[in-house]
Amino acid sequence: MTKLLPTSTAGSLPKPSWLAQPETLWSPWKLQGDELAEAKQDALRVSLQEQQLAGIDIVSDGEQTRQHFVTTFIEHLSGVDFENRKTVKIRDRYDASVPSVVDAVSRQKPVFVEDAKFLRQQTTQPIKWALPGPMTMIDTLYDAHYKSREKLAWEFAKILNQEAKELEAAGVDIIQFDEPAFNVFFDEVNDWGIASLERAVEGLKCETAVHICYGYGIKANTDWKKTLGSEWRQYEQAFPKLQQSSIDLISLECHNSHVPIDLLELIRGKKVMVGAIDVASNNIESPEEVAATLRKALEFVHADKLYPCTNCGMAPLSRNVARGKLQALSAGAEIIRRELSV
Ligand SMILES: [Zn+2]
Repeated sequence: MTKLLPTSTAGSLPKPSWLAQPETLWSPWKLQGDELAEAKQDALRVSLQEQQLAGIDIVSDGEQTRQHFVTTFIEHLSGVDFENRKTVKIRDRYDASVPSVVDAVSRQKPVFVEDAKFLRQQTTQPIKWALPGPMTMIDTLYDAHYKSREKLAWEFAKILNQEAKELEAAGVDIIQFDEPAFNVFFDEVNDWGIASLERAVEGLKCETAVHICYGYGIKANTDWKKTLGSEWRQYEQAFPKLQQSSIDLISLECHNSHVPIDLLELIRGKKVMVGAIDVASNNIESPEEVAATLRKALEFVHADKLYPCTNCGMAPLSRNVARGKLQALSAGAEIIRRELSV
């Protein structure tokens, strides 16, 4: 990017009500078959246009073609039985009924590659594509086959690498792996989590990112956040190893968060997608609030490595709120660009 402070979102954006029930996670599709396929593409176009009208620099598909950021990817793999469900605790936080791994996992065909090609056709702007990270994937499943979180994560990393290479060939500029689980399982992150992520990006020439957050603004997450105390130091656990890793960008949450901003010192030298938009609130930030967060981050991140972003995905928000937040992100970044140019 030649433009200073290129803006982007962490990933998901609200879906139109004709595609899926709004403001809901895992919302069922309202159409089927060919109609659904066409509607997903139309929604992707609308989502792209909303980002463009708001002045977002690095655009995405808004995750319009997936029901959920982890489940949809897993649905495309063999070795996972979606009928045979078990209840597990996701990220040690809330119970969910999840599919079971019953055999060796593999990717029979590309998952998002056609969607990425479609997005590539619609714009000449840089595009970012999100995939679930290996550790977050295993945490959303019951494993009756490998019986080892590390082994299953490694198999997923190899599958993700196949998908990522095809996304790169489709013209994706930045491939992002979503790893909210990195904020929970600290020993595993350092034992094998980051190594699995490195396996997923092996051989890629495009830029790579990891998104680590405190989750969507849903009740299970906001309740969990209340237990974390006044200083959220979770990033402290994974950052030193990530700083040494081959991942190019690190996406994290900052605004309205209790994350001490000086933790950014631990990843100095990396490009940082700084979350300057709170996705757990319907209040639309003012451009000045966005700018204030970016200004604080600039104490630890060189301006040419600062990427203003949202704290997490905006799928559960209303379209109006999400639109307002995109505009605020752009306007806030512009304030800082002007400050830096004088
Ligand atoms: Zn997130």
